[in-house]
Amino acid sequence: MKPRIIIISLTSCSGCISTLISLDIFPQFLERTKIIHFPFILDVEKIEDCDIALVEGCISEDSEIGLLKEVRKHAKKVYALGTCAAYGGILSLSNSRNIKPISTYIEIDGIIPGCPPPSKLLGNILIRLIENKDTILSEKVLCSSCPLRGNMEENLDADIIKINPNPDEIVLGEENLDCFLKRGILCLGPITREGCESKCIKLGLPCEGCMGPVSKDFTSNIINFLSLVSLSEDLKNYEGIFYRFSKPKLRR
Ligand code: SF4
Ligand code: SF4
Repeated sequence: MKPRIIIISLTSCSGCISTLISLDIFPQFLERTKIIHFPFILDVEKIEDCDIALVEGCISEDSEIGLLKEVRKHAKKVYALGTCAAYGGILSLSNSRNIKPISTYIEIDGIIPGCPPPSKLLGNILIRLIENKDTILSEKVLCSSCPLRGNMEENLDADIIKINPNPDEIVLGEENLDCFLKRGILCLGPITREGCESKCIKLGLPCEGCMGPVSKDFTSNIINFLSLVSLSEDLKNYEGIFYRFSKPKLRR
């Protein structure tokens, strides 16, 4: 029997669901599953029993908690689709809303991280889910597969003075093989889970941590990382960058 699927969206930009429906394997996904609730493409309001629920977006309003709990009640397995659902996401930087990841309110069976999740990773995970296998995420940090890795000890020796290259300094990864840290630019690759195939790095930008931490405790990862680099005074006070995607998770 085909697995029954629910896909819902909470507070989000819909980027994860847009990525999902743009996947090469999406037609295959539709073929091999029975989608019973997916407001993006189906006009069905009722939530019924399902095998797998994918939840995109974070909780920013009380009204979303009821929907989330309703989905949990009807789903054998619930997965957080994307960084907002898993950690709070980019909306963490909002001062006006009380953002929470979905695991604050329900038990989840796994996360599919990324802002949005990388297509290859998402495609592989969807196939695993419909074959009744669990999700697998790398336990390594991004630096371990980064093309700019070079000598990590030397990279960590540098003084970090900015969070991004100046616009005229942005060059594709293969045109400057120096690690961002070596260039004095903060890169969160040392504390971020690999799996995105170094997407930003290859485009000439440092990692901002959208894949989340490898270990559950991002705070101690950050402290350890910062103790290894020499950070300018300005950056020491710029807490947004370190918790850009995950601060709500820490506030539980
Ligand atoms: S710190 Fe960033 S640029 Fe340097 S090796 Fe790690 S991921 Fe690559
Ligand atoms: S390089 Fe970092 S911020 Fe960019 S997609 Fe990968 S994990 Fe996310």
